[in-house]
Amino acid sequence: MSDSSLQLTNYIRKKTQQAVVSWGDNIVTIGGDAPIRVQSMTNTDTVDAVGTAIQVKELARAGSELVRITVNTPEAAAAVPYIREQLDKMDVKVPLIGDFHYNGHTLLKDYPDCAKALSKYRINPGNVGKGAKRDIQFSQMIEAAIRYEKPIRIGVNWGSLDQDLLAQLMDANAALATPKDSREIMVEALIQSALQSTQKAVEIGMPLSQIILSCKVSAVQDLISVYRELSNRCDNPLHLGLTEAGIGSKGIVASTAALSVLLQEGIGDTIRISLTPEPGASRDNEVIVAQEILQTMNLRHFTPMVIACPGCGRTTSTYFQHLASEIQSYLRNQMPLWKKDFPGVESMSVAVMGCIVNGPGESKHADIGISLPGTGETPSAPVFIDGQKAKTLRGDNIIGEFQQIVQEYVQQRYTPKNI
Ligand code: SF4
Repeated sequence: MSDSSLQLTNYIRKKTQQAVVSWGDNIVTIGGDAPIRVQSMTNTDTVDAVGTAIQVKELARAGSELVRITVNTPEAAAAVPYIREQLDKMDVKVPLIGDFHYNGHTLLKDYPDCAKALSKYRINPGNVGKGAKRDIQFSQMIEAAIRYEKPIRIGVNWGSLDQDLLAQLMDANAALATPKDSREIMVEALIQSALQSTQKAVEIGMPLSQIILSCKVSAVQDLISVYRELSNRCDNPLHLGLTEAGIGSKGIVASTAALSVLLQEGIGDTIRISLTPEPGASRDNEVIVAQEILQTMNLRHFTPMVIACPGCGRTTSTYFQHLASEIQSYLRNQMPLWKKDFPGVESMSVAVMGCIVNGPGESKHADIGISLPGTGETPSAPVFIDGQKAKTLRGDNIIGEFQQIVQEYVQQRYTPKNI
């Protein structure tokens, strides 16, 4: 045994200021002591008010606490109040964020009902105009946010970085005796763009705490560098996201790699996973991935987690895979009901294991677990509840019986005691 004392990881979240985003009585705080929020963005044409409202509803139902929609044209701005109205009729109170580029100053002025129906404005300082117009148009957007009492996100993106600022920093760097790496200048430009815009907004009258910041890039190492430094230099709530993360597993892995490092360092008050959906895939996946990152890091709990082994040569049938998949879907589908009736159920862990090697051990660590028989083992599946072997299932309906056991366990353990 080593005599050095073991250091367990210690998660400490940086306490930022707190922004308040709301619609009606749904108040979503961001930063401070609020949980790390999950956001998403629609990919419908905003002009299609019904289609957009349906997608917002689906994203909200999947767990998105804020949903961003693009507001890019007068027609889109005109549609925003109808989208809000549709959502209100469906009792979906998720706050809507308007994503503005180039013409936000005009749209917020010409479409006051749009400005009111949105709960937050995203402003990209690289896309508010050029030269002298830049400051005027930026001011007009900030004035709208102040007038309608809306928080904002100053969302810098390296694909639309303020070119004047970048050129200025590049020139200053070139004049140095030992110029820095251009990547470092790009990171500095992203941060300065966010902070200078924040300062201007505050000078116009925007409350500092109501300004959320983001500086998105698509390279993992750069994202980590930029947010570490941004977090050092300000106390604003920070929105994390790896921009253009990509499609399928690449997008999931890249986002998870980048965000996990930052979250573990206590950086980040709200996250979005910018996945390119696979053809035909649901937009909800970006919400599920965001939730799973937070839950696997034990930062928030949304849905009972299924712990399943990968299977190997000891599991020759696909029955074990079916069971793991069915249980995962069952838990997710039950959550809208369970969330209301059984508080705390989102922290439950369920183990689905393929054989006797690790099955009973892992099942005992979970709240409830099942260990299926591997090749050559007795065709029976012991079920463990709170670490104790409770039952053994056999026959053709193991999935159904196990679901029933899970349901009974949830009712028995998570029913509030005062009911
Ligand atoms: S628990 Fe059994 S089936 Fe699962 S990976 Fe380990 S050895 Fe294979």
